[in-house]
Order: sequence, then structure tokens, then C-alpha cells
Amino acid sequence: MRSDSADTKPTHDERSLDPDSWEDLRSLGHRALDDMVDFLQSVGERPAWQPLPDATKSLLAEPLPMKPSPRDEVYADVRAHILPYPTNNIHPRFWSWVGGTGTPTQLIADMLISTMNSASLGMDEVASSHVELQLLDWLKSMFDYPADASGLLVSGGSMANLVGLAVARTHIAPYDVRDKGIDTNNHPRLIYYSSIEGHSSIRKGIELLGLGTESLRMIPVLDDFTIDLAALEIAIADDRKAGHLPACIIATAGTVNTGATDPLNAMADLAESEDMWLHVDAAFGGFAKLSAASRHLVEGMERADSLAFDLHKWLYVQYDCGCTLIRGDKPHKETFSVLPSYLRPAARGLASGPLNFSEYGVQLSRSFRALRPWMALKTEGVERYGEQIEQNIQQAKYLNDRVIAHPQLELLAPTAMNIVNFRYTRAGKSDQELDALNAEILLLVQERGIAAPSATTVNGRFSIRVAICNHRSRRSDFDALVEGVVNIGDEL
Ligand SMILES: *Cc1c(COP(=O)(O)O)cnc(C)c1O
Repeated sequence: MRSDSADTKPTHDERSLDPDSWEDLRSLGHRALDDMVDFLQSVGERPAWQPLPDATKSLLAEPLPMKPSPRDEVYADVRAHILPYPTNNIHPRFWSWVGGTGTPTQLIADMLISTMNSASLGMDEVASSHVELQLLDWLKSMFDYPADASGLLVSGGSMANLVGLAVARTHIAPYDVRDKGIDTNNHPRLIYYSSIEGHSSIRKGIELLGLGTESLRMIPVLDDFTIDLAALEIAIADDRKAGHLPACIIATAGTVNTGATDPLNAMADLAESEDMWLHVDAAFGGFAKLSAASRHLVEGMERADSLAFDLHKWLYVQYDCGCTLIRGDKPHKETFSVLPSYLRPAARGLASGPLNFSEYGVQLSRSFRALRPWMALKTEGVERYGEQIEQNIQQAKYLNDRVIAHPQLELLAPTAMNIVNFRYTRAGKSDQELDALNAEILLLVQERGIAAPSATTVNGRFSIRVAICNHRSRRSDFDALVEGVVNIGDEL
């Protein structure tokens, strides 16, 4: 027998990334959960925004870690230097862009998603495939969309628009666009139409699909920021005369600038009579449908051939989660299906899942995105969501009325849904001077942590823009915004 201790070690030093002590992980996990609940509960006590301190920036400038660090220390760094500085769309006074708040229930979902770590392929006969399909069915029923429609969860509205616009391309092109690519030498150019208020992701999608921005007509809008239907009809007729092929009308239910909704029924009629595809970008506005008092705002949305929306905006789902619904499984699958041998479904076993989601979109492996909204909808019930959404619409009306009533505030666009555009005014100032003044007011409102609205341009003028997809906001929060803007404006 040899005494050399090295010889008694296993020949293969096999290890995993599992913790040496599961008990340590458990206790850190409990502490982290407590911290997260405390953090969420106290969110309104912190500023709406605060600058990133140098300590965080230096932590984030560290070189690639080659050696391990204790898990507790890594967590302590995150808790001290990263956690306090989110975009802060969880804050009751966050109204920038179209930020969604998320809900506490989904914290638990996130833990389950990470634990299960499902690839969510759909072809896997596992729980995640069926949860996603049920969620898609629920979404169809929410929107009165046909029950046999096809659908897919994606990363967000930009991807949801890309999927819809891609299906329009394969469906309308009079040649096999997947084989040939876009071929304007031998075929008419496919033309897409959106209003100038359409989201930037539309343009990005058109470019990625190889159509080129020369194939995108940006139609002017009326005073209420909805598409000028007469101008759209003329553009379609002109393109036909020029030998192009009008392919797709893109309507917006809730534009990002002002929350305006295009005349959806009229655009659906037009698409039908012109034999075109109707894509509706309902990124946030679609959810007005859940409020009995406001669903008329998006009437006709259900007539879309493809419907894109974001669950992470006005359904208060944690990032990231968007969805595209497509009328008819066939055009959807014909656009994306590629089935190599290693992805073929099996009759039984692991690979006998309901369908292969990769045949319906760009992604193959996907996170178990469906669980957050699925748990949230079951926990709150859809009626509750309708009430929260209506509350946001009423808050927008409230802010709208406060702006109108205030002698030093001016409304810059009609408040159609949950977005308010306004500015501070002062007698004798030119529009240019007011642009600069309001830009400074907005920065100070953010920097002083009062609230977090964002900026846009409305009719060429700088606008303080408040988009409300926030279940934590209260009327007093809008009072604080009005007071902050007026005080800072007076002070400057
Ligand atoms: C936010 C938004 C998008 C893009 O969605 P993302 O989830 O940010 O990719 C598209 N259209 C409209 C109208 C939006 O508000």
C-alpha cells in the first residue's frame, strides 16, 4: 500500500457549478428575497431617478474575474451598488417612454423561471409549452381575436412588429420571397404604409426585412395625430399607378408620442378592399380593450391580420415580454418554418410537444417568459387589470385637466388615452425660448428626483411627456409633478 495521499484522490476531479453548501445558498436566497420585498415596498420613498454614483461605475469597470469570489460578497456588491439604480419604472412617479411597472407576484415567477430554466421550445412536451399556449389563448380571448389564430411570445414590441411585418411580406409577395429575397428587378416593389407617428421599430423592421425604407410610406396625420386616411388612399392609388404593389397597412393603436389610435375599422376596410395585409401595432394601447369604459378607443383592433403588443408595458408584466398574434397559422408558419432533422418532432417522449415555436419566429431557445404573465393574470384576475388600466386613463384625464386649468401650463396634444403632453409657458417667450426652458425644466424634474417624465416633440415643439402604464401612481403624484414643473419654471 502506498502512503502518497495524492493517490487516494479520485482520478477525475469532476465538479459542477452547484454550491458547496446548499444551506448557504438557501440562507442567502431568503435574505435576498427579504431585501427585494423591502426594496419594492419602499420604492416610493426613494427619488424617481438618481444619478449613478462613482462607486457603481468603478465596480462596473473591474476586469474579467478569473478567480471565484464568495457568493455573499458578490450579492452584497449588487445590493449596494447596482440594485439602487434601476431605470426605476417601478417607481410611482415614473412616466418616461412607455415604461411598465411589473407586479410583485412575478418576483416569485422569476425565481421559478430560473429554477426550471426551461428552453421553452414548444416542441418539448413539458409544462412551459402548454403554459405559453394557454397564455396565447387567454390573450386572444382578451382581444376578441379568433381562437384559431397563431401566436408567439417575443422579447417586446419591436420584435412583435418584425414578426408581423415579416408574415405580411411572405403572404403578399407574388413570388417566393424566402427563396428569392426581395426582388425589385423582376417584381413590383412591396409597399408598406404607416403614419408618421408609427413607432421607430416599424422602420427598423422594414430595413431588416430587406424591403428598404424606400418601401415605407410615412403618411401624414390629422390634428389629433391619427393617420390621414384620405392621404393613405391617395398614396396607395399612386403606388399602384407607378407599378408598385401596396402590401401592408400598419395601423397604431396608441401611438408612442400622444397615445392616438388610428381609425382601425376604416383601415381594416381599406386593407380588405385593396387586398392588403393589416398589421396593428397595439404595443401598449391594445390593453385599453380590458377596460369596459375605454375599449371603444381600440375598436376594430381585432380585425388585424397581425397584432403586435407588449405585455411588459400596460399589462404590468416584468421585462421582457411581447407578443404577435397572426390570423391563420399557415402564413405564420410559412414565413419562419425551417425544420432540420435535430428539431423534428417525435411521436412520443420529450420531443412530442404541441408545436415548435421556432417555426413561428426568429428565436429557437427561449426563456420561460409565459410564466410571469400567466401567474400574474391568475393571481389578479383580468377584471382587476381592466380597473388598473382605466385608473391610468382617468389619471391622464386628471393631469390633462390640471394642465388646462393652470395659467402657466399648456397642453400640446389631445389626451387620447394614457399619455399627456404639455409645457410650461411664460408671457413674452418665443416658442424657441420655451423649448429650451422646458428642456431644462424636465432635466431638473428628473435630477431632483421629483418625477421621471420623458421628452418628445409635438408639432415641432419640445414637450414634457407623461405616459402612464403605472399601477403605483396616485393622483397626488401628478399633483407633485405639476407643482414641480411650475416651481422650477418660475425659478428659472
Ligand atoms: C414601445 C413600443 C414599441 C416597441 O416595443 P419594445 O417592447 O420597446 O420593443 C412599438 N410600438 C409602440 C407603439 C410602442 O409604444
